[in-house]
Amino acid sequence: MATENAFAELGLASDATGSEVKAAWRRLVSQWHPDRNDNADAVAKMQRINQAFEEIRRAGLLRAASGGVDEDETPKHEPASGRQRRPISRKVKLTLEEAAMGCIKVMRGKVTEPCSTCAGAGHRVLGGNCAHCGGSGAIPKRSFFGWPAGVTECEACLGGGIARQLCPACEGAGKTAARSYKVNVRIPSGVRHGDLLHVGGGHSHKNLPPADLEIRVEVAPHAFFQLDDDGTIRCEIPVDGFAWIANRPIQVPTVAGPQALQLQRDRLSYRLDGQGFPIERRGSRGDQWITVLPIFPDTLSTDQEILLDQLLATSAQAPDARLRNWNRGMRAWERGLSGRSR
Ligand SMILES: [Zn+2]
Ligand SMILES: [Zn+2]
Repeated sequence: MATENAFAELGLASDATGSEVKAAWRRLVSQWHPDRNDNADAVAKMQRINQAFEEIRRAGLLRAASGGVDEDETPKHEPASGRQRRPISRKVKLTLEEAAMGCIKVMRGKVTEPCSTCAGAGHRVLGGNCAHCGGSGAIPKRSFFGWPAGVTECEACLGGGIARQLCPACEGAGKTAARSYKVNVRIPSGVRHGDLLHVGGGHSHKNLPPADLEIRVEVAPHAFFQLDDDGTIRCEIPVDGFAWIANRPIQVPTVAGPQALQLQRDRLSYRLDGQGFPIERRGSRGDQWITVLPIFPDTLSTDQEILLDQLLATSAQAPDARLRNWNRGMRAWERGLSGRSR
């Protein structure tokens, strides 16, 4: 790879300064690091990025902006100290109840460190031409019949043309074996979907994350709670129509658990003060509104017909004043109609 190609691999013009090279290299490494990038080509891309950087460095082209040579500090992928490390991005999925009331979530994960022997490159450059391809970086392909059929990238030098050796410390992986961590994360009450939580890393402690965690909150949609921006929770509940008429108590759901509600036959909406979602994180809770939907049977059983007849008979014996007035007015109206028709 000519150094122009190495600059191009880093997305730079060939007169880029040393600090531009380093910045581009760091950015690409963080984008393509196989720990963070699932793309099947990530490892190969990482190696090309590292190789391009090494080539530029070896050619003495890490120029200071003034034109001098900015010698030589091979940037480390990630600083060794836990405090300076880039945070580990995680997601946490919560129910609306967990988001409302707060909870503790156990987060487990694995992290790898860049190999310190090869600074994450996975290989050591020996210098000189690759013995496999003679330095061209390409191997002529031959068809089944032996005819030339284009070229393929040399596997020994990954197309770079420079002799290299697998890093013995990491056997080419460019990183250490994965280290597991586990941490209990206290989720405060009142977190919302999309919130970011920062949890300090455990630094060098054996089983704690080696860097801070940056945790993206995901709150699952709820089967029957609707959350408004002001913390109001709305919920529609079908209730037995007879229980509603009878002013019976029912159990209703809140984010803190079930609760008794006294039905009132003149009301369909009920407010539970302070039983909604926290208005702000760790703050007091908004209200919950419950709308009941009284359900009556589509068809009545014989027993129910008999009972309803009895019920009607009782109210006919002692009708409400509003009904009495209405019935009186209705009769007068009917008499008026028959008078006109004569
Ligand atoms: Zn080669
Ligand atoms: Zn290594």
